[in-house]
Amino acid sequence: MSAWRGISAIFYATFLCLSSHLVQAWDYERHRLINDLALDTLPQSFPRFVLTAENRERIRFLAGEPDRWRNTRDRALRHLNNPDHYFDVEYLAQYELKTETLSHFRYRFVEQMAAARARLKLELPEGNTDHLKGHPGFMPWSINEHYLKLVSSFSYLQVFKTMGTQEEIANAQANVVYRMGILSHFVGDAAQPLHTTEHFNGWTGENPKGYTTSRRFHSWVDGGFFKATSDPDRAAITKQLNPAALLMRPASRDLASGQFQAVIDYILEQHRLVEPLYQLDKTGKLSKETPAAGRQFLHQQLAAGSQMLGNLWFTAWKEAPPDRFLQVYLAQRKLKEE
Ligand SMILES: [Zn+2]
Repeated sequence: MSAWRGISAIFYATFLCLSSHLVQAWDYERHRLINDLALDTLPQSFPRFVLTAENRERIRFLAGEPDRWRNTRDRALRHLNNPDHYFDVEYLAQYELKTETLSHFRYRFVEQMAAARARLKLELPEGNTDHLKGHPGFMPWSINEHYLKLVSSFSYLQVFKTMGTQEEIANAQANVVYRMGILSHFVGDAAQPLHTTEHFNGWTGENPKGYTTSRRFHSWVDGGFFKATSDPDRAAITKQLNPAALLMRPASRDLASGQFQAVIDYILEQHRLVEPLYQLDKTGKLSKETPAAGRQFLHQQLAAGSQMLGNLWFTAWKEAPPDRFLQVYLAQRKLKEE
């Protein structure tokens, strides 16, 4: 090991120990792969401009964007962005909240937590400089809100296509591509089960089954394991994918807007795999020496992320209503021009 490698290894180990929830989900390569496979689930009828080589690459590049925001040391941005990447389901119990009764309104949820804190006299953990500790994270809200912004982009694109200028259409198309890319990151994160649990980087608290407490576990699952064995088997993942399909509309608009409920269900499915993942590690199946079952498990997770992402993109496109406000505005603009 060179001196530099040695120094960077020490730095890295220190960084891992200091960080709580600084861990990223899938590394950039895995996020890119999820996006690439999700693009393949889209039908031929999907807007053509999205599927050009240039825009496919832009969507793959954007897979890493919200993690790039995390690299900043600025606390206000970390406070805003970091909790969007995870949802530690176990934390709900201390607030006496249940997933079935969560408000899909982000700030309403914050109020629910604040009220519970006051009522139950919950103490916030020490060393909370970013004001991030002690709550579960906002991943379901993040995914749903980014989904709704994508719906909006499709809505105004439709109207610009018939009533806008070439420049407006090009700008609206660029925004669709950007929105697809930003949404993708959080959907990908959710497919990594460690982003749905308080045991996000080694088992915490009581540990009767003796699961790993290694602070390198998260990065091992994110990409370390694949780097140590070999890249994911694209064909094996593709076999698990179906053409993108419409997600159900919420039964009642009062209960949930957008796809909040589908997102919660998707996250809970991944959360159920937290313990099986630790079990795999404990039985040596997530190791370089005997990687087959571990690879199969992670292939399944990459497929889950790609499928959900394809479904959300497809549903956003199909369900987007024309932007009525913009229609009126552009009609008035046309009248003035005549
Ligand atoms: Zn992330």
